[in-house]
Amino acid sequence: MKLLQNKVAIITGASRGIGKGIALKFAEQGCNIAFTYLSSVEKAKAFESELAGYGIKAKGYQSDAADFKAADQLVTDVVAEFGTVDVLVNNAGITRDTLLMRMSEQQWDEVINANLKSVFNLTKAVQKPMLKARSGSIINMSSVVGVKGNAGQANYSASKAGIIGFTKSVALELGSRNIRSNAIAPGFIETEMTGALDEKVVQGWRDSIPLKRGGTSEDVANLTLFLASDMSSYITGQCINVCGGMLT
Ligand code: NAP
Repeated sequence: MKLLQNKVAIITGASRGIGKGIALKFAEQGCNIAFTYLSSVEKAKAFESELAGYGIKAKGYQSDAADFKAADQLVTDVVAEFGTVDVLVNNAGITRDTLLMRMSEQQWDEVINANLKSVFNLTKAVQKPMLKARSGSIINMSSVVGVKGNAGQANYSASKAGIIGFTKSVALELGSRNIRSNAIAPGFIETEMTGALDEKVVQGWRDSIPLKRGGTSEDVANLTLFLASDMSSYITGQCINVCGGMLT
């Protein structure tokens, strides 16, 4: 029996990077997948077909996670199409890095809305089907910089720290209904988001990590699968690092 056989998951921001890795891992385990993206229409269409190759139901939705009404509509559409929502992975996220001295109000607002408000939007919307089913697993993508802070990322680290507080509060509110809420704090994961960085800087980071490499999307997807499945049925309100020992 596969770990997520016949379950339904919403994964935000799965047209590339970590979200894509999670969707592939879930598909391997028999999960039906509704994934979202913001602008990568062609990539999302191709990915929809790739996922269908696993013999599961898969659909991509162009939906801005930062938009409250769009998030609510997304969940309504997914329930109409798939019947319910068992797992929500709030993965969509952006960076607008710069020192606080140079950070504009727009750079602050964009990051807080895409990274933190999105988690509120989607979680609030999936409450309904999850409460009805008296079951659910919500997994929020934080970051090690949400735990420890990072120069040049005041907006991003604030959004990721906010996710941890939100995750714990939801775990306390919904635990009695068998709805679990956990966060993942990835360290340095090599995706398109990090591909834009200078190779020398990247090698320096790899060297400073105890396991001597950057993480992969699959490293994060493995923990996400565990938290989505009944293997973690007694785990809620936690934030778990996937960082090769970068933060101990
Ligand atoms: P990525 O490669 O840049 O992919 C981001 C994904 O989010 C894309 O699918 C993008 O869609 C989607 N997206 C962005 N804004 C959105 C919005 N408003 N509504 C819906 N979808 C949206 O990023 P990644 O590296 O895989 O990171 C994924 C998550 O892990 C993020 O939350 C990030 O903060 C977190 N994280 C990453 C690292 C790392 O080292 N990579 C470390 C710690 C935490 P489009 O393709 O349409 O733009």
